[in-house]
Amino acid sequence: MLKLVVCIKQVPMVSELPWDPNTRTLKRNLAEGMMNPACGHALEAALQIKKQHGGHIVAITMGPPMAEEVLYEAIAMGADRGVLLTDRSMAGGDTSATSYTLARAIKKECPDFDLVLCGCYTSDSETAQVGPQLAEELDVPGAAYIEHIAVKDGAFRLHRVTDNFLEVLEMDMPGLVTVTTHTYMPRYPSLEGLQSAFARSDIKILNARDLRLDPAKIGVNGSPTKIINVYSPTAAKKNIVMQGTAKKVVDEIFAKFADRISGAIGKDLKTHYHDNKACTK
Ligand SMILES: Cc1cc2nc3c(=O)[nH]c(=O)nc-3n(C[C@H](O)[C@H](O)[C@H](O)COP(=O)(O)OP(=O)(O)OC[C@H]3O[C@@H](n4cnc5c(N)ncnc54)[C@H](O)[C@@H]3O)c2cc1C
Repeated sequence: MLKLVVCIKQVPMVSELPWDPNTRTLKRNLAEGMMNPACGHALEAALQIKKQHGGHIVAITMGPPMAEEVLYEAIAMGADRGVLLTDRSMAGGDTSATSYTLARAIKKECPDFDLVLCGCYTSDSETAQVGPQLAEELDVPGAAYIEHIAVKDGAFRLHRVTDNFLEVLEMDMPGLVTVTTHTYMPRYPSLEGLQSAFARSDIKILNARDLRLDPAKIGVNGSPTKIINVYSPTAAKKNIVMQGTAKKVVDEIFAKFADRISGAIGKDLKTHYHDNKACTK
């Protein structure tokens, strides 16, 4: 029976949320939470592995108390139990602090795991760093952006599509994968599943003390990433009318915007233009 761990982040349901300028974090209490889409695909992959080979699935999330909702959803979809890591001292942690905390929880709750599954990235922060960093923390092999997982001869056979190539990788157990959103379409939790999840309420809540976390490695203070500023970029447009012969207008465009055009086409336009002019003389 395979022991599977799925890391699930709760993300805000809307993309435009107000920021707290003091803490430079999202005002999450103003939004409904949902399971991060890629985590749903990772959970579906675990459920299909469990169906084919037998297994036990632990869903883990780190977040504010309301993050518990995604664990109920995961159990309703077929996970066996949930673990919620929540503590004010964990809040505001970057990917390094998150990976450290998740690793401590996995080592405590599921030390003999065969596979940890993460989403490839989140819809709110989207760094895609937690999976690979977690593999480092757990000291196991890791493979990112996986589209298919097969279990063969005590190892995992993984498919990954990169630049139109299909890579077939083999990974020893235990290991970690991050799963893309291209395959393993998540199932909907059934009403019966939800009723059973709330009736069983098989969710363990752990805080920093339970996990014996080093205060220097968690939360804002334990995060090497410092957010300098957060803002919505504004785009401005200006219309310019150019007059004269076609040659005069083209020369003027090149003189005024050569740098921008060079940046867009990836060539030094001044050299390219002058070389071509020299050729046509
Ligand atoms: C009290 C509290 C408050 C928090 N508030 C915020 C906040 O305001 N904004 C914010 O972005 N984060 C918050 N977090 C969570 C944490 O800081 C982020 O999860 C972390 O920075 C992940 O970065 P990312 O989204 O870029 O992950 P990515 O690297 O893009 O995520 C890839 C995958 O890693 C796994 N993963 C990532 N984060 C978690 C997690 N928390 N739990 C389980 N699996 C995870 C998932 O499988 C995910 O699909 C909070 C945590 C706590 C305890």
